Amino acid sequence: MSAVGIYGGTFDPIHLGHLHVITQLLQRDIIGHLLIVPAGQPLLRADAPVATGAQRRAMCQLAIESLPADLRSRVEVNPIEILREGPSYAIDTVDAVAATYPDAQIVLFVGSDAYANIDKWHRVEELKNKCRIIVIERPGYSFEGLDISALDISATQIREGSSNQIPQSVAHYIKENGLYASAK
Ligand code: ATP
Repeated sequence: MSAVGIYGGTFDPIHLGHLHVITQLLQRDIIGHLLIVPAGQPLLRADAPVATGAQRRAMCQLAIESLPADLRSRVEVNPIEILREGPSYAIDTVDAVAATYPDAQIVLFVGSDAYANIDKWHRVEELKNKCRIIVIERPGYSFEGLDISALDISATQIREGSSNQIPQSVAHYIKENGLYASAK
């Protein structure tokens, strides 16, 4: 069986920069199948996501529906971290995915901004032994990684209303649900 990828993030909201990453990873056949894993809702944290886990999951689902059929069939949104109680650690997600795909190599994709903090991750040495970690280069961050000609788009820009680089269906969802700048 070919490799299974895990692409995690807050996805508050998912944007065209993320979809570009997803498209590139699939088109380059770095993995056979890709799981999009929105992070859980951390309690009592200053940087908690604006949208709920259920809303971020729904937006990820809408976004992947906009992919061409051949790529769409190789991606799914996995709610494991959203449904999990307590803090979400990458290692728990990797363990759960490995249990579902016992014969597959697990590849964890991390943006260069997130990778800069990897030494602080829970049980990171074990994590590195259990999966392959591929760092994706991101404009504005110095770490060398997989060059996919990433787009300079962030969820922060979308929340602030300074960028509209999101699929139409996600824009519609944001408006309908009064999220982010559309709430003002
Ligand atoms: P925020 O602006 O809220 O910090 P974000 O745009 O960084 O959000 P996340 O949901 O935190 O989005 O990102 C999920 C993963 O995707 C992370 O690994 C991040 O590094 C990566 N990523 C985010 N935006 C891009 C982009 N434009 N190009 C490549 N990778 C990206």
